[in-house]
Amino acid sequence: MPELPEVETIARGLASRVTGDVIESVWLGSKPEPLKSKASEIVATLESKRIAGVRRVGKHIVFDLENGGRASSPVRRKARQKPSSTVTPRSTSAQWIVHLGMTGRMLVCNPDQAIEKHTHAVAKLASGRELRFVDPRRFGRLSVARGFEAAGSEPLEVDLNSFVLLFRGRKTPIKSALLNQKLLSGVGNIYADESLFRAGIRPRRRAASLTRQELSQLFGTVQQVLKEAIALGGSSVSDYVDAAGEEGLFQLQHRVYGREGEPCLVCKTPIKRLVIAGRSSHYCPKCQK
Ligand SMILES: [Zn+2]
Repeated sequence: MPELPEVETIARGLASRVTGDVIESVWLGSKPEPLKSKASEIVATLESKRIAGVRRVGKHIVFDLENGGRASSPVRRKARQKPSSTVTPRSTSAQWIVHLGMTGRMLVCNPDQAIEKHTHAVAKLASGRELRFVDPRRFGRLSVARGFEAAGSEPLEVDLNSFVLLFRGRKTPIKSALLNQKLLSGVGNIYADESLFRAGIRPRRRAASLTRQELSQLFGTVQQVLKEAIALGGSSVSDYVDAAGEEGLFQLQHRVYGREGEPCLVCKTPIKRLVIAGRSSHYCPKCQK
């Protein structure tokens, strides 16, 4: 499943390819699962809109849309543009939101490229290219919204004080708290385990029992782990968004995740695995307290 770093990479790749392009028409498949908003609403929101930008919010890809897409000459378009100081706040513009689920991909294709099986949406762009949403397992979701924001804090933007406050008084294991999307948006299982290992904190510790020093450590390692993964992904953007590419292979060198029974890379103690709230958690019993 794509995690925050992958989604960030994909959103950047899409942003560099389709920002400024105009969605001329939209085709949606007949499978109901991928559509979180009504089909008619998705079509009405997307058609004739200019893609003002593409960004990641939590684990969602958000296309910011603006009016004035179709049939406007460059001159008229310019005349209609607002001065930059009064740009409409993001919260009032429409957005196309894509969640990739387990196997979803967003491809930028030339129209002559064969439509892959499991294609659930095709947006024809004024540039002649197509944005295609392909998802064999259909856990991905397409929706439209206004003022979409993730429920939790953005882990790469939150400051230390706010981060510390998120966990104050929480009796749940710190691992569960890290995965709680209402607290932090987009930290997945692998990155939670890796961050806790680097911070020297056991996943089962109650969040409320962590000292400010420990939370400060964790604040640093969560950002470090996510940024490293994003940096690794930067080189394989095309694998995610170009139709010809296979799924990207970038992956953080896992220090604990998926290494049950293998020696800790720091102290050689066998890595342990336990299940917390239904999710596998991996840790070193010596390095993590
Ligand atoms: Zn160790």
